[in-house]
Amino acid sequence: MAKDMNMNMALFMAQSGACFYCGCEFEGRALPGKKHLHGWSKDHVKPLCKGNNAVRNSVLACLSCNAEKKDREPTRQEFERAQRIWTGALRYLKAFNGNAPPMLKG
Ligand SMILES: [Zn+2]
Repeated sequence: MAKDMNMNMALFMAQSGACFYCGCEFEGRALPGKKHLHGWSKDHVKPLCKGNNAVRNSVLACLSCNAEKKDREPTRQEFERAQRIWTGALRYLKAFNGNAPPMLKG
């Protein structure tokens, strides 16, 4: 079970199962390998064309927030909150997996 811990689940826990933007609670739970589940999806805090697809750029958002946001740049507040969430998520990952994936190190 601990083996199944992945970044989606870590983010889910770090965000207390709620949308990054509006705070609505997600139904169900995060599952490995699923991008869309019960109305939530991965959102890139910085738009893909400007940021990159790294985990540190991802948060979980409900589908309507994700659609609304599109290519908007994050506010400073959002960006700082995302960093706190990543820190928490990495802590979960380390606790469950022993080690963070190589791309998350450093
Ligand atoms: Zn939302």
